[in-house]
Amino acid sequence: MSKLISLIIPVHNEEQNLGLLYSQLQTVCAALPYDHEIIFIDDGSQDRSVPTLQQIALRDPTVRIIEFTRNFGKEIAISAGLEFCQGAAVIILDADLQHPVELIPQFIKKWEEGMPVVIGVRTGAPNDRLVRRIGSWLFYKIMRALAETTVVPHATDFRLLDRRVVDEFNRLTERNRLARGLIDWLGFPTALVRFTAQERHAGQIQYSSRRLARLAITAFVSQSLLPLKLAGYLGILITFFTGVLGMFMLIIKAWNHNPWQLDFSGPALLAVLNLFLVGVVLCGLGLMALYIAQIHSEVTNRPLYVVKGSKADCNHNNVNHNFT
Ligand code: UDP
Ligand code: MG
Repeated sequence: MSKLISLIIPVHNEEQNLGLLYSQLQTVCAALPYDHEIIFIDDGSQDRSVPTLQQIALRDPTVRIIEFTRNFGKEIAISAGLEFCQGAAVIILDADLQHPVELIPQFIKKWEEGMPVVIGVRTGAPNDRLVRRIGSWLFYKIMRALAETTVVPHATDFRLLDRRVVDEFNRLTERNRLARGLIDWLGFPTALVRFTAQERHAGQIQYSSRRLARLAITAFVSQSLLPLKLAGYLGILITFFTGVLGMFMLIIKAWNHNPWQLDFSGPALLAVLNLFLVGVVLCGLGLMALYIAQIHSEVTNRPLYVVKGSKADCNHNNVNHNFT
């Protein structure tokens, strides 16, 4: 029996895209030397997406549908798919045909060559609005500065994951999640496939700028604790400078015949004292941030480490890990 490839497709109000997507997938999958399953995750669609999917599933036993009670968001839909799928390799793609289905054989080729993760990277989206382009540029700039892991700009959710990666992913328990951030965090060797994003085939973009911004903040906060600690750094800086300045002012005040003939008014002293206290408060916040950082890392409860492969494992279980 040949290996199974799972396709995971999050769907939210995509009735006009599903027919075409399915027929394209069929063509591509038929040419593959593997069995396949197609898992559609309906993320609380309001339109006729579910009946359309049911029609497809009636005719094709390789199609499965997971139906959410309401809209939980694409990240959760992907997570559900990853939990449900059984393939030796799993491919995640959008339902709006922006991720070219004809690239799937390329993804699989890289996987056969031993890459556990293959990521589709967008090269330019000609019709993106300027705000989005600036937003995306800024996002990757900040992300690069913050994240502990390497971040590939314009890496999309169009990804292939080996079974081992999926199993590791399923161990992650955090609720506020960005699937691709977590996959990057797992740190498996990664191959890239570049593609030009097409226009959405039909329907509306579902991620408004506001929703994207929220997702970006989730990404920053989950990848790094630096924003939290910034207040503390600022506090140390302010306390130090106003402390030195305040001392200097007091000395001058006390020293009647100072050689520079300097004097400071009462309000000036008060202002510096005030600023000093602000610095102390910010330091306190920074200190709290350290504790919150600890709590944060305890509750996200990520695995301590991720194993790429071990020799003993291979011998005992007689499992063939391609990438040990
Ligand atoms: N999607 C989803 N739940 C949502 C929003 C979107 O499952 O709440 C799906 C949607 O059906 C599509 C994919 O996520 O398959 C990407 O959505 P969209 O095209 O709106 O986003 P973008 O192309 O801007 O990333
Ligand atoms: Mg899209």
